[in-house]
Amino acid sequence: MTALWQLNTQLFRENIRRVKQHYPIMAVVKNNAYNYGLAFAIKTFMEEGIDTFSTTSLSEAIQIRQLAPRATIFLMNPSREFDVLRENDIHVTLPSKSFYDTHKHDLVDIHVHIEYENLLHRSGFQNIDDIRDVLEDHAQNQSDKMIVTGLWTHFGYADEFDVEDYHIEKHKWRALVDELHQDGYQFELIHAQNSASYFRENGIFSRHSHVRVGIALYGSRPFASVPRHTIKQALTLKANVIQVRTVHEGEHCGYSFAYTAQNDHTKLAVVDIGYGDGILRTRAQHDVLINDKRYPIRALMMSHMFVEVDANVKAGDEVIIYNDILRIDDYTFKGVGANSEQLSALNLNSLIKEYQA
Ligand SMILES: *Cc1c(COP(=O)(O)O)cnc(C)c1O
Repeated sequence: MTALWQLNTQLFRENIRRVKQHYPIMAVVKNNAYNYGLAFAIKTFMEEGIDTFSTTSLSEAIQIRQLAPRATIFLMNPSREFDVLRENDIHVTLPSKSFYDTHKHDLVDIHVHIEYENLLHRSGFQNIDDIRDVLEDHAQNQSDKMIVTGLWTHFGYADEFDVEDYHIEKHKWRALVDELHQDGYQFELIHAQNSASYFRENGIFSRHSHVRVGIALYGSRPFASVPRHTIKQALTLKANVIQVRTVHEGEHCGYSFAYTAQNDHTKLAVVDIGYGDGILRTRAQHDVLINDKRYPIRALMMSHMFVEVDANVKAGDEVIIYNDILRIDDYTFKGVGANSEQLSALNLNSLIKEYQA
């Protein structure tokens, strides 16, 4: 018996269809497709009609090219591996005027997407004048040219409802898109919206070619007011009861007094999953499901945890940590950690991974 990361592939597929509807999607597949598996994700997205992908790592971008010879692949981080980008036809971000000035001839024949920094202050051009300078210089330049294909930004606040920041970054961005359009510049690809912005806006902005969606495709809601049936989790994480022990008031269990029994005849199930498998300490403040009943986790160790149970629980019973009832997104909204944080913590080197047909 080993803890299991298990995906219902039919439900995963149905979720993609519900999220996609008729909109053009650039699927974000960074970090091994949020741990759903890069090869599986690319194959399934393509079968569902998605042919445009983005990631943050060059090595993943190359793997996507091998999996999808004709896909559009966008690398969201800058790279100086110009030959590799060219050979694999990988589109890459253009993060600043200085990057352009230094590398404009290295970038020959490479598709670039000009990045606008906006409020996130992570990367990108800081103002429209720098973008105009580059576009003008590029227009004058007669040889050894890059290919200007895209314009993009990333919203840092699309899942924040209490502050004005999303409205500010959105208006700044849309004004910039409109101005460049009025200047006569054309971009084949314009993309900005992550899952939160896509669901907030009920679709895609005008002039945009794609929404750039990650977490919703993987079955977690970006914010709590998205109805539960709109996005459904196809992932189950489960472990097993190894044994049930009875302890008495004042007895310590686990390392460093991890748990001290409050009552006599406390029943503790020893379960074969722990933080080494990627269970966040914050998640351990909430319940698990055993035989459809909720029980509290009492202590989290590297490869085990203690769950306080009753006489109905016995060795060999299944322990659900995440499923369509114990949803990752619900724990996000309870403060356990971002959806992507809970997903990417899961240790696929120790968990058994199973795709159910
Ligand atoms: C991760 C990421 C996304 C996708 O965000 P979700 O909230 O998962 O939809 C989009 N754009 C960039 C730049 C990202 O890093």
